[in-house]
Amino acid sequence: MKTPPAERFDVVVVGGGPGGSVCAARLAQRGVRVLLLEKERFPRFHLGESLLPGSMHVLEAIGVLPTLEATFLQKYGARFHDDVRGRRDRFQFDGAWRGDRDHAFEVPRDAFDHVLLKNAAILGVDVREGWTVTGAIREGERVAGVFATGPEGEARIDAQFVVDASGRDALFAHAARATEKIVDLDQTAIFAHFEGVARPEGKPAGDIDIVIFRESRDARPNWFWMIPFKDGRTSVGAVVSRAWIRERRARLDASADETTALFAAAVAASKSAGELLSGARMIWPKARATADFSYRVRDLVGEGWVAVGDAGGFIDPLFSTGAHLAICGAKAAADVLAERIAASSLRGGAEEHAALRAWEAMLRGGAETFILAVQAFYAGPLMEAIFAENKHTALRRSITSLLAGDVFTDAVWLRDTRLRLVEMLAR
Ligand SMILES: Cc1cc2nc3c(=O)[nH]c(=O)nc-3n(C[C@H](O)[C@H](O)[C@H](O)COP(=O)(O)OP(=O)(O)OC[C@H]3O[C@@H](n4cnc5c(N)ncnc54)[C@H](O)[C@@H]3O)c2cc1C
Repeated sequence: MKTPPAERFDVVVVGGGPGGSVCAARLAQRGVRVLLLEKERFPRFHLGESLLPGSMHVLEAIGVLPTLEATFLQKYGARFHDDVRGRRDRFQFDGAWRGDRDHAFEVPRDAFDHVLLKNAAILGVDVREGWTVTGAIREGERVAGVFATGPEGEARIDAQFVVDASGRDALFAHAARATEKIVDLDQTAIFAHFEGVARPEGKPAGDIDIVIFRESRDARPNWFWMIPFKDGRTSVGAVVSRAWIRERRARLDASADETTALFAAAVAASKSAGELLSGARMIWPKARATADFSYRVRDLVGEGWVAVGDAGGFIDPLFSTGAHLAICGAKAAADVLAERIAASSLRGGAEEHAALRAWEAMLRGGAETFILAVQAFYAGPLMEAIFAENKHTALRRSITSLLAGDVFTDAVWLRDTRLRLVEMLAR
């Protein structure tokens, strides 16, 4: 069969999740010729349903905020429940240090990702679904496009620059064997959608519930997420350690679906989850699971490419940070690339490298803050701070700001919080 002639774009984006769609949309807004290749056909299921207020300025900049306001449930805060000690607290985003964005959204990701992908197309991105990128074209050291398989077969697409937004497939990082697991975060998530989960009235109706459960006061915490959707469904997931799975698996009834039985065992192990789910019904036939998801990637930047979103690493979902890092990182990367394309200077060299390394440092700074927070939570001290009675206003504001995703700032509170998190881990 004759190979079709190569096409040429300024930028090719691999993947149409939040990272890819936001990056492509922003580039197109700034006049760049972009092709986005997505292997699935949307809408498709995806994890990652609770957003953070810190991403809202990006979603506003690419023009989707009015659609999100009309379509999804507003999330004004986060509630934490501690089973063992019967403690609870609620953090409302307008109590953050910055406090200018008082809400985010709870989003079934099939619908949310579709809104973002369609928006990218409206802004002029050439969006192609059902296209799988199979590898990078290289000219010497530099990436100069991608090979892909589309509905009509193999294709070669040349580009000045490639954005890897392939999610946890992490196309470039896996090809370079450049991923590494994050110490002590080898958790498993077991999840399903429910209907009939009771909700409070008013603004707290859209809160995410984080329910912490463990064998004893000193045991490592396991936890549930409960994320309410506008249509009455609730996403429920248990995040547990590998040891917990091993121990429970040995006690399961062999005739039952194992994942669903493990999910039921987690609910049975948590008083608060049991109470919140009493009267609710699982609407999926079976629970699903995903394991060992936290990893770092060595480089987010190379000659002719960047990795955004999960393609550049993933942190345990305790603080719902994945889509936020993808959205904010993607927009910032697009701004760097658009500037250089406008100046016709995207051809490698020291200046390009320095601009992209500065972007990488900014993004890693935010991500490492969340990693510290997650580790300090599992180690215990951050959990104690979250549940502390009569918290000092400054501590409450700092926790709320972290939960809102305000990690790309050099504000004093954030520098102070990072130091405290490091101290917590050194105890
Ligand atoms: C248990 C769990 C719970 C989570 N909960 C939350 C939460 O509450 N809030 C939150 O913000 N985040 C959460 N996350 C994280 C969230 O799912 C991700 O961080 C987020 O989806 C990252 O977006 P992305 O665009 O980088 O990747 P993705 O959303 O994964 O998108 C990548 C896209 O690339 C496509 N693709 C992959 N390979 C190719 C290829 N070769 N060619 C073409 N297309 C390709 C895929 O089909 C996919 O559509 C959770 C994650 C887990 C594991």
